[in-house]
Amino acid sequence: MRQQMIRALIYLAIILLMANISPVIDSFLHPEIPYFDPEHLLVGGLTATITALLLSLLISHANRMTKVAHELSLLNKTLREQSSRDSLTGLYNHRYFQEMLRHEFLLSQRYRTELSCMMLDLDLFKEVNDTCGHPFGDLVLKGTAEQILHEARTTDIVARYGGEEFAILLPNTDLEGATRIAERIRARAQEYTHQDKGLAMRVTISIGLASNRAHSPKKPEELLTFADQALYRAKEAGRNKVTAYSELPAGESSGSILPS
Ligand code: GH3
Ligand code: MG
Ligand code: MG
Repeated sequence: MRQQMIRALIYLAIILLMANISPVIDSFLHPEIPYFDPEHLLVGGLTATITALLLSLLISHANRMTKVAHELSLLNKTLREQSSRDSLTGLYNHRYFQEMLRHEFLLSQRYRTELSCMMLDLDLFKEVNDTCGHPFGDLVLKGTAEQILHEARTTDIVARYGGEEFAILLPNTDLEGATRIAERIRARAQEYTHQDKGLAMRVTISIGLASNRAHSPKKPEELLTFADQALYRAKEAGRNKVTAYSELPAGESSGSILPS
């Protein structure tokens, strides 16, 4: 609003300046013509007004173009934001998560910082769909995403990895810190009742963890694979568990690192 007022004042100033300056310049260029010659004043005034009008048209056009460019850049930002989101839960999508995994892995190597990765999978989710229907299953996925976001920090990258699987990247977080957050997510999910149209159900989550300092992955994909293998162990150990990656075969590992 303030900008528009300033712009209007500039136009006015230009018009006044042009209307006044033109006869003065002409009186210097053509001293034989009297300054207050009515005919000369009329021609000079008309020329000045037309020039000023053209100039203001030009400026207003340039302003409109700037506004359009600004709107396009906002639209572009929104589209980019939408293309990185999962439409059901609003969390980041698989593609964006992969991008960020590579990015955060490089950063953690460059600055020797901690990075942890969590893979989460809803337990026996097929049964939820089978007993309560697919729409209720969708509601459970949305509700779970909200529960996860409650426990994650704003710096964590929380994504729906696919189907009923979620993934979280935790920059500057070691295995111990990530385990605490994972355990809070697991406990919160266990306590939460998803409800809709007379239906009510609780769904547990199994979580696998891996960290760069504790497990020394060589590539970003390896960090994710380690977390996925840990998730598999959590399922094997009976579900509703948090398990960290271990190189030992399943039978020889300590299994769940935290009691559930
Ligand atoms: P487990 O504890 O071993 O993970 O068992 P599970 O039943 O969760 O695993 P399974 O892979 O057998 O089934 C996953 C189910 O998730 C099957 C699929 O229909 C459901 N699913 C995947 N995406 C969606 C979705 O977007 N909406 C709904 N409602 N269901 C989905
Ligand atoms: Mg599952
Ligand atoms: Mg699954």
